[in-house]
Amino acid sequence: MDSPTGKTQSAWLTELMTDTETPSRTVAVLGTGIMGAAMARNLARSGHAVRVWNRTPAKAEPLAAEPGVHVSGTPAEAVRDADVVLTMLYDGDAVREVMREAAPALRAGAAWVQSTTAGVDAIRELGSQADELGLVFFDAPVLGTRQPAEAGQLLVLAAGPAEHRAAVEPVLDAVGARTVWTGEEGGAGSATRLKLVANSWVLAVTNATGEVLALAQALGVDPQNFFDAIEGGPLDMGYLRAKSALILNDGLTPASFAVSTAAKDARLIVEAGERNGVRLDVAAASAERFRRAVEQGHGDEDMAAAYFASFEEKEKEQQ
Ligand code: NAP
Repeated sequence: MDSPTGKTQSAWLTELMTDTETPSRTVAVLGTGIMGAAMARNLARSGHAVRVWNRTPAKAEPLAAEPGVHVSGTPAEAVRDADVVLTMLYDGDAVREVMREAAPALRAGAAWVQSTTAGVDAIRELGSQADELGLVFFDAPVLGTRQPAEAGQLLVLAAGPAEHRAAVEPVLDAVGARTVWTGEEGGAGSATRLKLVANSWVLAVTNATGEVLALAQALGVDPQNFFDAIEGGPLDMGYLRAKSALILNDGLTPASFAVSTAAKDARLIVEAGERNGVRLDVAAASAERFRRAVEQGHGDEDMAAAYFASFEEKEKEQQ
């Protein structure tokens, strides 16, 4: 397949990979939510030419003030001439649809870095979509939340062909502190599977934290007494302290990781367990707590707001 410049796909990728003097890329970032906006900023600050698009334009517009960032009106406008397309949307369905809209303007042989937490089934489908579109597909979910994203310190989990990695490494380096390569074939989803395993831990700890505080409140226990009791021991952990502080100090907005996004991830984890023959009772309970918190109106708050799911009846009575 020829690129718009007339070069063959492999010649163009080879040129990109060997161009060590100017490792900057033209990068389209589709989705400028909590994570995408921060990633776009760091890409621009690392010297890449960045073209962003977001469904709700108001969320992309502030990025126009960033040198090196162009705000585009459509996905197609954003991906035109992009060497690398980075998707950071809510879920697999959103990614599929947005890439369909972008399709007519995609550069043949461009790399697609898919960082949305999409789940095992969706990543396979997106890999096939990449093949149909003539793109080199990288399954590249990230670990880390708003603050590490803003600092360019995410942990990138990535799978994709070794022969084409040099084309995307400058992009991954701009958003992350480190990249862990998990496999050769993006569509096989090895990075996404690791991401789901990691998130099952994150979501379990978040919900355990909410329940600890809810139980303490119900039993008239000062949470500080609990923290003092575990301080410095193996049961103490930074994540418990951080999420507790958000709940106890009214720090749930702006979210680092919204309840509605955590609800989607919990569903992906439960589905992955079901499809692969393991019972994940804690993940199922997490999914239910996030669902209830969304129903109660906490969907846009930090996922620590799943704490409120413990007080469902009380909240209903107050309404
Ligand atoms: P977010 O702030 O809610 O952003 C979601 C983005 O998806 C927004 O740009 C939103 O557009 C867009 N979107 C949603 N549905 C869409 C649709 N149907 N069509 C087009 N665009 C759509 O979420 P986030 O926290 O940045 O997370 C983005 C992804 O990264 C998610 O898959 C999440 O699981 C994953 N992730 C998040 C974190 C974290 O800590 N936040 C960490 C690692 C991975 P609008 O602005 O128009 O709504």
